[in-house]
Amino acid sequence: MRLDESLLAWYDATHRHLPWRANPGKAPNPYHVLLSEIMLQQTTVATVIDYFHHFINRWPTLTDFAAATKDEVYHGWQGLGYYSRARNLHQCIQKIVAHHQGQVPQDLETLLLLPGIGPYTAAAISAIAYNGPVVPVDGNIIRVFSRLLHLETELPQLQQEIREVVKDYVPPARSGDFAQGLMDLGATICKPQKPLCQECPIQQHCRVAGLQIAGLLPRKKVKAARPVLHGITFWYEDNEGRIWLRRRPEKGLLANLMEFPGTPWRPEPYEAFIDVPLHLTTTQWTVLPKQIIHTFTHFQLRLTVVKATGEDQLGDIQVMPQDFKNYALPTLMKKVAAMVVEVSGSD
Ligand code: SF4
Repeated sequence: MRLDESLLAWYDATHRHLPWRANPGKAPNPYHVLLSEIMLQQTTVATVIDYFHHFINRWPTLTDFAAATKDEVYHGWQGLGYYSRARNLHQCIQKIVAHHQGQVPQDLETLLLLPGIGPYTAAAISAIAYNGPVVPVDGNIIRVFSRLLHLETELPQLQQEIREVVKDYVPPARSGDFAQGLMDLGATICKPQKPLCQECPIQQHCRVAGLQIAGLLPRKKVKAARPVLHGITFWYEDNEGRIWLRRRPEKGLLANLMEFPGTPWRPEPYEAFIDVPLHLTTTQWTVLPKQIIHTFTHFQLRLTVVKATGEDQLGDIQVMPQDFKNYALPTLMKKVAAMVVEVSGSD
């Protein structure tokens, strides 16, 4: 059997049941494919499933989603991280409803003009939703092909090489299932460290089947350590126990989400309050004993949290802690709130 025939026979028999997928050979809902692909960027399948159900129940159609407010979307997205995805997804769906008669486009060029859709996501939507003749090359597919063909090129250059070679293997009639079959194979059999070659449906095509080198592919460049940034966050409370929050800027990291006011984040540690541009008159600040350490993709953040009570304005809005759940606080700020509660409880 050819490679695609072996893979598709295995996929038909064993494919993973995921809520955004149609059965093999059937056409899925393009809205479901779009939504799941955006959610799956940087997030695992196991985490995405609940969020996907929640979104589809709340906004069953593209038109429903387009009519949601920005805050409703951010609120639903809480905990998924990388919030620029939520903003782009919302804008993307609004454009589809306004300019494409509510139909997710099929061709790569049009998809690439939509917010939040890069080459991988465009290829995934085109292949999975419409059986377009492309393969979305994700981490699973890179792993499978680097082993199948024993490619020693390092990442990230390897990705381009695989984009080229994989085209020769796509079966035109079932490109979506072929891509999903490769993804499933990478997730369940051709695993990162210990590939299960004995169970692999395409082992007769694989140049490293059963060899130790399989677990060493794909080759990666050694990563440089993440830089560290420092900041101070102000937990500022009025006499009724309400805490000041403010909205982050519209662009950049954690855009549009709420946060406790704080200093800019910078490479040099802050020395207590010497560097802090803060002119509140009535406050006695307490430095809390624990730092918050949070890892973003490109840096690690170390936040010192200071606490005080006063009547000055230090933000956009005052909120009781029990009402934080009604605001789009990123995980970082939830960590701050949990730490303050923990430390205050042990006072
Ligand atoms: S034979 Fe082994 S290394 Fe090759 S594709 Fe299958 S699981 Fe991966």
